[in-house]
Amino acid sequence: MQEEYKLLINGKWVNGDKKLEVRNPYNQELLGTVPEATEQQVDNTIKSAQEAFKLTKTLPAHKRSLILERISDIIRERKEELARTIALESGKPIKLARGEVDRASETFKFASEEAKRLYGETIPMDASRNGEGRTAFTIREPLGIIAAISPFNFPLNLVAHKVAPAIASGNTVVLKPATYTPITAIKLGEIMLSAGLPQGALNIVTGPGSTVGDAIVRDTRISKITFTGSASVGLGITEKAGLKQITLELGSNSPVIIDKDALQNAGQKIIERCVFGSFAYAGQVCISIQRIYVHQDIKDEFIKQFLKAVSKLKSSDPLDENTDIGPMITEQEAKRVKQWINEAISQGAKVLIGGNHKGPMFEPTVLIDVTPDMKVVAQEIFAPVVSIMGFNDWEQVIKEVNTSKYGLHAGVYTNDVKKTLYAAKNLEVGGVIINDIPTYRVDHIPYGGVKGSGIGREGVKYAIQEMTQPKFVCFS
Ligand code: NAP
Repeated sequence: MQEEYKLLINGKWVNGDKKLEVRNPYNQELLGTVPEATEQQVDNTIKSAQEAFKLTKTLPAHKRSLILERISDIIRERKEELARTIALESGKPIKLARGEVDRASETFKFASEEAKRLYGETIPMDASRNGEGRTAFTIREPLGIIAAISPFNFPLNLVAHKVAPAIASGNTVVLKPATYTPITAIKLGEIMLSAGLPQGALNIVTGPGSTVGDAIVRDTRISKITFTGSASVGLGITEKAGLKQITLELGSNSPVIIDKDALQNAGQKIIERCVFGSFAYAGQVCISIQRIYVHQDIKDEFIKQFLKAVSKLKSSDPLDENTDIGPMITEQEAKRVKQWINEAISQGAKVLIGGNHKGPMFEPTVLIDVTPDMKVVAQEIFAPVVSIMGFNDWEQVIKEVNTSKYGLHAGVYTNDVKKTLYAAKNLEVGGVIINDIPTYRVDHIPYGGVKGSGIGREGVKYAIQEMTQPKFVCFS
C-alpha cells in the first residue's frame, strides 16, 4: 500500500477530501498520494501561521539557531532516504540527488549561523540639522507570514532556501511545494517538527498552483511571497499579490563563452564541465547551459571533443548509480521540446547528436546553425538540449549574450584578464562565473537574476534581508 501523505497545519498532520497521485516520472510507478487542500484548509494554514508568529517573532536567536542546526544534522542523518525520495519523485539521478541533500543540510547550517547575525545599525542623526541632539538606531524585524512556492526540480534544497531563512529571521511559513514533487517537502516538514520547531511555524499545503497557490498569493494576511518557478507563473504572481514583498527566482537560457586560448590549458576539464552543465538532470536546472559561444578558431575542435563526451553519457533509471540522464518531468514536456527542435530544423538548424525522445527520456541533443530568434535559443528550453555558436569578437559576443530576455548566470572562459573584467562588467546577469560554467552555485552566495530571470536574491544571508525590515527607533 502506497503512503498517504498529509497536510501540515498547526503542527498536526491533516487529511484532505481529495487525493492527488505522485508518480515516478521514469516508469509512472505510484509513489503515494497527497491531499488537495480545500479553501478552508488553506485558510486554516494561514491562521495557524498567523498565530505562531506571535511566538516566533519573540523566540530568541540562539533558540532559532539551535533548531536550524538540528534540522541540518537530521537531514544529513536521513541523507540516503531523502536522496531516494528526490530521485523517485523528480527523476533526478541518485548521484545528483545525494548532492542536493548535502547542499540542503548546508543551507540549514548557514541559516543556523545567520540567525545570530540580525543586525540593525546606528544612524548618524546629526548629519541633518534637524537631527542634532538625537540618537537613533534600527532593529531588524521579521515580516510575518512568508508564503513559499517551490518548483519540481530541486524539491529539497529550493524549499530549504525559503524556509530556512524565514525561520532564522523569526517569520512563519506557509509552504506550497510543486505538485509533481511534494513528498520530499513533506519529509522535510517531519524533520523540522522533530527538531523542535514550534507548532504552526511551518505549514505545508499541497494542491494545484492554479487554485491552492493562487489562494495563498491573493491572501492579504501574507506578508511576502518567495517564489521559484517559471517566468509565466512568476509574472502572474506579481499581478495578483497586491501589497506584498515578492522574491521571484525564474528561469534562463544560460550562456557560456569560450575564448580561443581557453582550451589550451584546460581543454578536457572545460569539455567535461560544459557537458555536465548542459545535460545534468536532463537540463532541468535554471542555470543549465543552453547557449555555448565558442571562438571560431577553436569551434570545430571544441565540437569534435564535445560530441565525443556527449556520446558517452548514460541515460537510464535515476536510481541506477551510473545514470547521467534520467527522464524529463513528464512525457508532455519531452514532446514540447521535440516540437521546438523540429521548428528550429525547419528554420535551418542542424542536429549533431540526439534530437529524439522515448516517452519522457530525451536524448542529449546538440544543435548548430541556430539563430538568436529560434525558440531553442531565445526561450528557456529546460531540457537536455544545447546550441553551439561561433564568435570572433569579444565585445560583440557579450552584446549577443545580452540580447536574451533572461539574465541569471553566465560562464566565461578566457585567460585574458582584460576580457574577464570586460565580461564581468558588461554581462547583464545576476552572476558571472569566470573560468567555469554558469551551472555553479553554492548556498551562501547572493543568487538571483536580472531582466526576465527574476526579482531579489536568495542565499541565506540575502534572503534574510528580504524577509525582514528595519524599524527606526529615535531618542530625542
Ligand atoms: P512552475 O510550473 O512555474 O511551478 C512552480 C510552482 O508554482 C509550483 O509549486 C506550482 O504549483 C506553482 N504554481 C503554478 N501556478 C501557480 C499560480 N497560478 N499561482 C501560484 N502558484 C502557482 O515551475 P516548475 O515547472 O515547477 O519549475 C521549473 C521552472 O522553475 C523553470 O522555469 C526554472 O528555470 C525555474 N527555476 C528557477 C530557479 C531559480 O533559482 N532561478 C531554480 C529552479 C527552477 P503546481 O506544481 O501545482 O503547478
